[in-house]
Amino acid sequence: MIATMSGFDGRVERSRLEIFCQPGRRVDHPILPRAARICPARGERHFEADPQKVQRIDTPREKCLFCGGKHPSVLAFVDRRMETVIPDEEGSFRVAETWLKGRDRSRIQTYYELTSQLQQYNDISASHLVRVFWNLTPAVVSTEEACFVSAVHPTYHDDDLSTIWPAVPAAMVRSWQLVETWAVSKGMTAVSFINGGRRSPSGQSVACPHGQTYVVQQSPTLFKAIRAYRNAQWEGNCPICMGALDPNLLVWTDDSGAIDLVADPAPIHNWSLLVLPRRHGSLLASVDPVAFGAAIQTAVKAWRGIFTVEPALNVLIRSGEDVGHVFAELVPRTETNVLAGFELDTQDHVITVPPEFVAEKCKAAIGQPGWSGH
Ligand SMILES: [Zn+2]
Ligand SMILES: [Zn+2]
Repeated sequence: MIATMSGFDGRVERSRLEIFCQPGRRVDHPILPRAARICPARGERHFEADPQKVQRIDTPREKCLFCGGKHPSVLAFVDRRMETVIPDEEGSFRVAETWLKGRDRSRIQTYYELTSQLQQYNDISASHLVRVFWNLTPAVVSTEEACFVSAVHPTYHDDDLSTIWPAVPAAMVRSWQLVETWAVSKGMTAVSFINGGRRSPSGQSVACPHGQTYVVQQSPTLFKAIRAYRNAQWEGNCPICMGALDPNLLVWTDDSGAIDLVADPAPIHNWSLLVLPRRHGSLLASVDPVAFGAAIQTAVKAWRGIFTVEPALNVLIRSGEDVGHVFAELVPRTETNVLAGFELDTQDHVITVPPEFVAEKCKAAIGQPGWSGH
């Protein structure tokens, strides 16, 4: 049988009735240069995998390197009043300089051993909510770049983000602000995030709740693309301030009315949410850390209500001149709708849970009444 296009076309059309076809819709993201194909009917083929089945990382506190102070020198900490404190401790620096002399600096093991020497100087007093230190193996591409850990006080080692004392996520945001200010002073860009949920699909490896900040010289590819997209789609205006986000997607607003939590209109994953400060500012330093931390925690509470446990999750902070208006993308990393062939091929994403449904379910999960508008 010789293939003919009309023959193939005829067979395609005759077999259309054999499939479960209920067209969805394509949504362009108002802020990010991407689109989602929202196809709820496709969700019928499976159920969202139960996050309980994903192994929880449960390293006990006694074995936690962060809680044991086995890490590089404490550079700063955030106290209970959300003040950043720069310690005057210097013993750790002196010990490191002396101890490293004559040792093999080409082996990572040397640096793990060094942390045992630094442990006694890494004072973890009760006033610290979050402390900042270098990532022992930073992913830098030049010596000027940096990666920092924002680690919680050992009191909170076993806590989940959804149930932790709200001052802790606020202090986490405060620590990111400190690092961001440093990055800006060096002409670099801060990229803060959490790999969380105590489950490995988020990229989390240390059980203890913690955030990180990369300080990079080149504006990240996505940040540059956000600027180009804003220029192309909105003539350089801010889509958030222009009201480009559908008000029906609002989930929650903090008590001060400064920060909204909304369902992502064109997410990369089912159940993704966005944290949007109402006031325009390009830097994370322009937000109230208490309100911003509350928005992150509220999102995770909503997911916990929906999934019954805290799923693997990523909190992704985007800030700086290229981004324009600081915001966070919150992505639960449940087992279905992972990045697969189509997504990696196109950077468009097939989504089976419509954002309007996400907003409704999240609102119900956190027990909030409907939105009254801006
Ligand atoms: Zn810990
Ligand atoms: Zn704006």
